[in-house]
Amino acid sequence: MSIKEINPPIQVSGYAVAEKEEGKEFSFRPIKQQVKSLGPLEVFVEVIASSICYTDIHSLHNVGCIPGHEIVGIVRHVGEQVEKETKIKVSDRVGMGWHYTSCFECPTCKNHFENLCDKTLPFDKAPIGGGFQTGVVWDARFVFPIPDKLKSVDASPLLCAGATVYSPLYYYRESPYSKRNEFVVAVLGLGGLGHLALQFAKKMGFHVVALSTNANKEKECRSFGADEFFVHTEENDAKSLSCKFDMILNTVSTDIDNDKFIQMLKPFGKMVMLGLPDSGIYKASAFPLILKDRAIVGSASATPDLMKEMLQFAADHNIKPQIELTTLDNVTQAVEKVLKNQARYRVVMAVNQALIDKEN
Ligand SMILES: [Zn+2]
Ligand SMILES: [Zn+2]
Repeated sequence: MSIKEINPPIQVSGYAVAEKEEGKEFSFRPIKQQVKSLGPLEVFVEVIASSICYTDIHSLHNVGCIPGHEIVGIVRHVGEQVEKETKIKVSDRVGMGWHYTSCFECPTCKNHFENLCDKTLPFDKAPIGGGFQTGVVWDARFVFPIPDKLKSVDASPLLCAGATVYSPLYYYRESPYSKRNEFVVAVLGLGGLGHLALQFAKKMGFHVVALSTNANKEKECRSFGADEFFVHTEENDAKSLSCKFDMILNTVSTDIDNDKFIQMLKPFGKMVMLGLPDSGIYKASAFPLILKDRAIVGSASATPDLMKEMLQFAADHNIKPQIELTTLDNVTQAVEKVLKNQARYRVVMAVNQALIDKEN
């Protein structure tokens, strides 16, 4: 298996995390890179759109890192084995998420849970980094065709946010306790993940409840698919919701009182943790879990197979994120908005405006 030379080399430009300037929370600097060759299973993708996930915020202290793991673009070059080993080919419109590659040899990979492999590498370990630039080099086995019905700007947030909420809805959709038509999904937090979770859960046929601290969010939550809406700030509300849900998708990235929400789960209910609190620790009492066979679970994006299924499901059911569109050159303001939790609900950066215009 040989390396494929690209002649002349492809020029890529974008933004990398820079040393923080005085008084700022983060800084970016413009960068230029060249792609001169591709490994046998690598592809070069010209980026169309790149959205900002809250997890990108965690890479802002990592000087040199090129963030971005919700990427849509067009395959322009493929390594020598790509068309033989995968279904990806030149000119395909594709998406890429958190994972850049995995080992493809361990039992986990062989069982097609490649995203859970111990040797998986994330976007910032991709040969030229993540999606805050005009092109990326990716392992073709973690590159997913985008259905024609999805516009690039709408598809990009699905590559991380969509995958992260779809995966637990898919894996834990059956309960030993509730019949399918009794299964209730609660979504905690209405942000980038939450507004997609409401849509996916509704279109998958569950009874959907939105949990918020803000009564003003009711109309919006219902517009995304919530059948019911509860403000959970007061003690009474929490008690009245005791043993109501089969699953809570917790999309909140701050430390919350997990016990309060675990009490809202029916027997065998799952508290699905999708946000990463600053402490890095989930605290919960033992008895509420033990006495009703409840569980706390995580979600590490989706397997490549499930990623394709999720994208098709979104296309078939007209699921799309509510986005604020900006351009890659506005990366600093765009990231600031996400950092301050002001994005409604996903900030998408146009990287190649001409290709976006073509879709309209
Ligand atoms: Zn993400
Ligand atoms: Zn592996």
